[in-house]
Amino acid sequence: MDVSQMAGIETKDVTRLDRVGAHSHILGLGLDDSGQARESSQGMVGQLRARRGAGIFLQMIKQGKVAGRSILLAGQPGTGKTAIAMGLAQSLGHDTPFHMISGSEVFSMEMSKTEALTQALRRAIGVRIKEESEIIEGEVVEIKVDRPASGTGVQVGKMVLKTTDMETQFDLGSKMIEQLTKEIISAGDVISIDKATGRITRLGKSFTRSGDYDALSTNTRLVSCPDGELQKRKEVVHVVTLHDMDVINSRSQGFIALFSGDTGEIKSEVRDQIDQRVSEWREQGKADMMSGVLFIDEVHMLDIECFSYLNRALESPVAPIVIFATNRGITTIRGTEDQSPHGIPTDLLDRTLIIPTIPYTEEELNQIIRIRGEEENVNFDDDDDALDLLTEIAKTKSLRYAMQLITTANVYARRQKQSTIKIEHIRHVLSLFADSKTAVERLGQYQSKLIGQQS
Ligand code: ADP
Ligand code: ADP
Repeated sequence: MDVSQMAGIETKDVTRLDRVGAHSHILGLGLDDSGQARESSQGMVGQLRARRGAGIFLQMIKQGKVAGRSILLAGQPGTGKTAIAMGLAQSLGHDTPFHMISGSEVFSMEMSKTEALTQALRRAIGVRIKEESEIIEGEVVEIKVDRPASGTGVQVGKMVLKTTDMETQFDLGSKMIEQLTKEIISAGDVISIDKATGRITRLGKSFTRSGDYDALSTNTRLVSCPDGELQKRKEVVHVVTLHDMDVINSRSQGFIALFSGDTGEIKSEVRDQIDQRVSEWREQGKADMMSGVLFIDEVHMLDIECFSYLNRALESPVAPIVIFATNRGITTIRGTEDQSPHGIPTDLLDRTLIIPTIPYTEEELNQIIRIRGEEENVNFDDDDDALDLLTEIAKTKSLRYAMQLITTANVYARRQKQSTIKIEHIRHVLSLFADSKTAVERLGQYQSKLIGQQS
């Protein structure tokens, strides 16, 4: 691929990566055939009632009974609202489009509120297309991501791919890096990149490299390194979102805009054209539509105009499944003087099923952290209190914070050439964060240990 085409700039998309990547262990709602929630299944732990509720909504979706309806997940931060929305999307099929925004983002974008919402809605509607397409398929030799010196801003990197016959280096923009991170792609993976959408699929681990991994989980698929050219044509079924199509068609260099995520406002004529084309494809049996999931967090941040826009959008024949989330109780509806539950106008609230989420028990937190550790290939030592410390942090600070510490402590442990995370690794990364002091102070029962280890 032309080097310039993969390079892209968009910091907003990089932050989104963190948010989506943090849920990669969630594979569904973890329900049994009768719709009951299993205590721990598909990466999901606890929160049984909420998951069962989401399961009922899932049934309604499958029976085509959701038109105009939505659900609202109401609960404190870190109670699995995003995880449940993600699990629901996954239950609809692993290629179901899932997009998340937060209510406040609608106002911070450099476009009108309704444009921002339209883009978000169209990012959550998929078109399944069968066509011959151009792909790049090869084994990952190396991925290098350069972080800008400032620590924020543009991420760029390089990736070397090979077949048994050739090897090529590609430049990566932030969009590609986002995908690679989301799919947890590393050296030794055989991947396929759809040139039209930039979508990356992991085909499996390469046989030749499988010896390098000590802890290959049983569900890792081993494949052989592809032969021939890196670029090939193949008949593939892929899902693109309406938004992807809008962007590709909105300018001559649309393809670049897709990789960079820098889309700006899209003209309504372009959208009309796309809708027209998709409906032709559907008539010709070349494509079908699939409703994805749009997750709107901090829904109380939306104002009355946004709500009435969403209300109409939900009634349209092509609408995604919209899942709202909030941690507010009764509050003012923005743009009005009125108070309402969760800051949502009553006409919308009337068509919304409210599902409360409740704080996790210590045991549940422990299990979630363990699962997340497995997902990130982190080993905990049974004789060590690292897992307990993380659980304590999840309880006293936040679950998300504890999750972040897994990642950072893992990086540190590996740098120390250790394959297991120990309490001292966590202590070290805690000391690197500004708020580590408060965290450590609260961990009364570990205090002696922590100090004891200081040399
Ligand atoms: P919220 O959206 O309510 O703030 P999140 O869904 O972001 O909470 O939860 C924080 C982290 O914990 C995420 O990484 C999420 O995937 C994980 N998590 C939350 N609930 C569960 C659960 N029931 N099972 C497994 N992981 C969970
Ligand atoms: P509005 O447009 O005023 O918000 P709707 O016409 O959408 O109200 O009514 C809400 C729901 O109540 C719909 O499912 C509708 O079929 C039902 N409904 C409204 N009025 C009646 C009625 N008189 N008898 C039976 N069902 C009704």
